Parts: sequence; structure tokens; C-alpha cells
Amino acid sequence: MTRSPDDVLAELEALRAADPPTHGGRVLSYVYDPGHPDLDRLAERAAAAFLPVNGLDPTTFTSVAVLERALVARARSLFHGDEEVVGSVTSGGTESCLLAVKAARETWRAADPSRATARAAIVLPTTAHPAFHKAAAYLDLDVVAVPVGPDGRADAARLLAALDSLGPRAALVVVSAPCYPFGALDPVEEVAAGAVRRGVACHVDACLGGWVLPWWGDLPAWDLAVPGVTSLSADLHKYGYAPKGVSVLLHRGRERHAAQYFATTAWPGYPVVNPTVLGSRAAGAMAAAWALGEVLGDEGYAALVGRARSATRRLRQVLDGLDGVRVVGDPVGPLLALAADGPGGVDPFRLVDALRGRGWLAQCQPAMRQPDGTVLPRTAHLTLTAATEDVAEELATDLVRAADEVRGAPAASGDPTLVQRVLTEGLPDELAGVMATIESLPADVVRPALVHVLQTAIDPDAPVRNDVRPGERSSHQA
Ligand SMILES: *Cc1c(COP(=O)(O)O)cnc(C)c1O
Repeated sequence: MTRSPDDVLAELEALRAADPPTHGGRVLSYVYDPGHPDLDRLAERAAAAFLPVNGLDPTTFTSVAVLERALVARARSLFHGDEEVVGSVTSGGTESCLLAVKAARETWRAADPSRATARAAIVLPTTAHPAFHKAAAYLDLDVVAVPVGPDGRADAARLLAALDSLGPRAALVVVSAPCYPFGALDPVEEVAAGAVRRGVACHVDACLGGWVLPWWGDLPAWDLAVPGVTSLSADLHKYGYAPKGVSVLLHRGRERHAAQYFATTAWPGYPVVNPTVLGSRAAGAMAAAWALGEVLGDEGYAALVGRARSATRRLRQVLDGLDGVRVVGDPVGPLLALAADGPGGVDPFRLVDALRGRGWLAQCQPAMRQPDGTVLPRTAHLTLTAATEDVAEELATDLVRAADEVRGAPAASGDPTLVQRVLTEGLPDELAGVMATIESLPADVVRPALVHVLQTAIDPDAPVRNDVRPGERSSHQA
């Protein structure tokens, strides 16, 4: 052996120590903390038990089929699907959305032989998750992005008008429950009713809200109880509090579900039947999600959602009285997007940097010009979880202090010379300038630069941007 396992494990721990804390509610995106170490340990043990199996073939590893059936059944009942609703467990929200688009495209094609080589299109609000743009890019569909109102909510009439102008090319309309940028709950009933009248599929993206909204309180119907909703995605690795790698995609109808599959015998190997994008499939996160659901039950999830909701209410109360800051729209669920309130208001990007200085990681969301010329403002995004409740007062205090610190400072502005600097030196600690630059430059300049930065982060020949360099535990990169 070249190195001892202890030495290697110690190095992994040191690498992790340089990451932001995944627990304790200080990272306000990416991670979801139930605030219960017991639940984390349960998930770890369940996942470990399923690390060795391959979900590629549920007829060989029948354990995986049992868990997948149970999770699909649980989701179907939670989201008010009848016995016509079936589905699959996927590796995450992006895969669920991608497969919803694939199923819609195949169903659209099957409806008319002349569509075999035609190009389908999907209609979505500008706030829809980029997973749908990615799906369209991968699967060769056109996207029609429809402006949302200043509250971030999709406009049903405009979405339906977009379907009408596409005519027979429209294969799918997407709504979110709620959308990630602003937490707005889209008008699912109106859109689905219009879609079904036009013979178009309607997907509800509840990747974020799936394991929140059922316990949030009185809401307009948004799930499979709504006629015309043909598919729904809900991530277990978000508010299901499972480790990364598990989401559910439900379809109304077994035929639509079958359209999600890929099968072939065109090789000299085993007959291939893949329900999802992956071939060999990890089942650890699926096992963890199943175990968490068994232990938590309806009451357990209700309690976790109650904690996230009380943190959200408390912060909204503080933010509503905070000069120069406003919450965009009327978010449904534990999400907040903070914009500058009026000219001279608090710059959200500077606010994110000031929060970072106090040990909180919020996310910068650049302003967006919509297709009709209206502009969605730049915002600071906060995703709150059950663990946030334990630190809600501290976060409220720091939000007020951070806002006081940057109030009156001019909004961060774009600097084209920053692009070259970031490409050669990496990202600075303060992100306001970088984000303002991303916001100000044309997409065709920004996209390759973003790819380059992320590509460099994993390039074996590029300098390491971490305190610990693998294999050289004590060295620090200048
Ligand atoms: C997170 C998210 C997705 C994509 O999910 P991943 O698990 O990150 O791939 C899709 N839609 C919404 C609304 C989301 O919040």
C-alpha cells in the first residue's frame, strides 16, 4: 500500500473542513438540514446498506424495486394521484425534468406520424428551472420563455397565448410549485385547464416544493389533483432531507411513463431497458429517502415544514421593517428573494457579501431582462430549512446589520476587465463585482467564461483553489 487508509481518510476530512458548513443553517442554498443529527445518521446507515447494489436492474436487485415502488406510491398519494398515476425515482430534479420533457416529446410525436422528424417546442415562464432549457438543448426542442409579473408569478393567459401561437408544435407547458428564484406559486389550475383544452401536456415542477407545500397551509390546488396536469417532479434530496441523488417523477398514465424509457437490443450484450438517463444506478440516496419517510411519516414532515415556515415568517417580519430592502412578491414556501427597495435601496449583491462576512452564504441572482423588455431585479436568494429555525434570530440580526453596513453604497456595477482577472486568478471572495459583471455582459460572452471558470476548477494542470491539495496535505497554494 502506498498510503495508509487512516492517512487518506484524514485527508478527506481536511478537505471537507474547508467547505462551508452543510449543517447549522448558515448555508442558504444547496443544502437542506433537518436540524436533527439522528435523521442524518439514519440516512447514512440506510444509504450505506445500499451502496453495493446496482439499481440498473431491479429484476436482479429486487430490493431496489421494492423501495422504488414504495417511494412512487408515497409520492402518488402525497400529490393526490389516482391509480392512473405511476412514475420513477431519478437521480435528482434535473433528471426528473429532463425525463418529463422526453416523455412529452415522445407522446407528442406518437400523436401524429408527420411529427416523426418535426421539432417540438416547450412553453415555460422565465422563472422555470434551467433544467428545462438543458432538456430542450439535449433533446433538440425549442423553448418559448414567457414573462412573469413583477411578483415572479407566471401569467396563465400569456402562457396559453404562447401555446396558441406555436400551434401544433407545442408539446409541453411547464409551471412551478413554487419557482426557485422567487418562491412564487404559479397558477397551476388555469394553465393546466388551458393546456388540456389544447391537447398539450402540462408539467408541474415541484422539485423544490414537493415535500413542503403539502404541509405549508391553505393553497390553491397545484398537484395531480388538478385535471390536465400530466406529470410532476418532486425532489427528495431537497425538503425530503435525503442525501443528494434522489427525486421522483410522476406521470398521469402508464403510456406516458413508458415514453420516458429507453430500450434496445441493438448490441451483442444484455437486453437494455433504462427508465432514466443513467445506466448503472446508485440506490443509496433512494434507500435513505425511503427510510426517512418511514421514520418521519406525515407528522414528522409536518413538524419539519412547520420549523422552516416559522423561520421564514420571522425573517419576513424583520425584512418588512428593514429600510431599503424588500421581499419580491409573496413567496409560498421557505424561500426569500430580496431586492433593493427603491432607488438608493440596499444592493442585494453587496448584502450577500456583507452576510458572507458574518458567516452566512446567500446566493446572488442577477437581474434579468424578460422577452417583453420588463426587468426582474437583481436579488439575494435565501433558502431556509428546518435548521434555520434554530438560528433565525441570529440571521435576522445579521441581516439588519449587513443591510446597515451596505445601505447608501452604490449598487455594484459591471467591470469587463474582471472577466480576464477571474479567468487568470480565480474567483475573489467578494462576489458583488463578479455578479454585476455577469449581469451586465451579453450572454454569448458570459457563458464561455463561466464554463472556463468551472472547467479550470477541476483541471489537473490548473492551480488548486483550496487550502488542501490532495496528496500534499500540508501545502498551501499561493
Ligand atoms: C432544484 C430544482 C430543480 C433541479 O433539481 P436538481 O436536483 O438540482 O437537479 C428543478 N426545479 C426546481 C424548482 C428546483 O428548485
